[in-house]
Amino acid sequence: RLILGVESSCDETGLALVALPEAGAPVLLAHALHSQIDMHQAYGGVVPELASRDHIRRVVPLARQVLSEAGRRIDEIDVVAFTRGPGLAGALLVGAGMACALGVAIDRPLLGVHHLEGHLLSPFLSADPPEFPFVALLVSGGHTQLMRVDGVGRYTLLGETVDDAAGEAFDKSAKLMGLPYPGGPHLARLAEEGRADAFELPRPMLHSGNHDFSFAGLKTAVRTHLVRQGWLDRPDALADPANHAALADLAASAQTAIVEVLLKKSLGALKATGLKRLVVAGGVGANRQLRSQLDQACGRRGVRVHYPELHLCTDNGAMIALAAAMRLQTGQAVPTREPSFDVKPRWDLAAL
Ligand code: ATP
Ligand code: MG
Ligand code: FE
Repeated sequence: RLILGVESSCDETGLALVALPEAGAPVLLAHALHSQIDMHQAYGGVVPELASRDHIRRVVPLARQVLSEAGRRIDEIDVVAFTRGPGLAGALLVGAGMACALGVAIDRPLLGVHHLEGHLLSPFLSADPPEFPFVALLVSGGHTQLMRVDGVGRYTLLGETVDDAAGEAFDKSAKLMGLPYPGGPHLARLAEEGRADAFELPRPMLHSGNHDFSFAGLKTAVRTHLVRQGWLDRPDALADPANHAALADLAASAQTAIVEVLLKKSLGALKATGLKRLVVAGGVGANRQLRSQLDQACGRRGVRVHYPELHLCTDNGAMIALAAAMRLQTGQAVPTREPSFDVKPRWDLAAL
């Protein structure tokens, strides 16, 4: 069976074709992505109305592109999968609307997919796919969760952030430091030149005794350091080469604080569950310091760590087509003929 995946929950339009063999793992045939980062950069964040309008422009050409790259015809698609939520309502509606229209046009059923389940299952597309059960650290722009995963659709929430997500902590700190949107990768690059012990930053809830996180205090602490230097809201000072080294120190200190919390909490969840496998998913999973520290600490404990391929850490259509394929394969979902625009901007993964 052939599954088309459509992702449009935020600021990337992603389309992909996945083949689901009678037996064996789903195979990614083609995927295509358009990122709106350049468009939103001028505003320092995603502008929802602009995002929706751009998804409309991109979604059909990208669908044509993946069909042609995979050498398939439109009527060979068996199921049209799309991101049903969570995300921006208007952006989700574009993907849902396109998927429904296509489903009606070629007389094929639809399957709404949970965006975070896409992130969570994306490591199954890597060369070294995980096996169930595992602990999942889901670290994206909007979410930070630890989960116990026993199979497709069998997710138990162990803990999550009580305020900002890890990606948000990266992005908000980076924005305060005058770095372009989305700040995570920029802050990570700057951090490589800095000293991680230069600034004292908080590690909130590190010893909270549960699997929850809190990152809002970190952004506030970064802001306090910038105020002290007299650099807050002063683009001239932030761009001054004379201040570059100190900013790199601040970036390194912030990254280290975030990574330390993610690392310790992941180890805590592994210990509590007794599981020997960790899956890291979501955009922050691309962070090199996080990967190397997890690899080291888990290696010492006999825990295997699995990541999505780097280019599949952030939003993409491949993970949506894959999640649909794995749900179909395990009988965890029934595609519907009923075109539905019932997107879910807020949607709890553990409730699936
Ligand atoms: P959600 O999936 O929760 O709805 P999202 O789709 O916006 O949120 P993702 O696309 O998974 O999130 O990830 C984007 C986030 O990942 C951004 O916050 C970005 O800064 C962060 N990110 C990407 N690369 C890196 C990196 N190398 N280091 C740190 N953060 C990174
Ligand atoms: Mg994005
Ligand atoms: Fe995402």
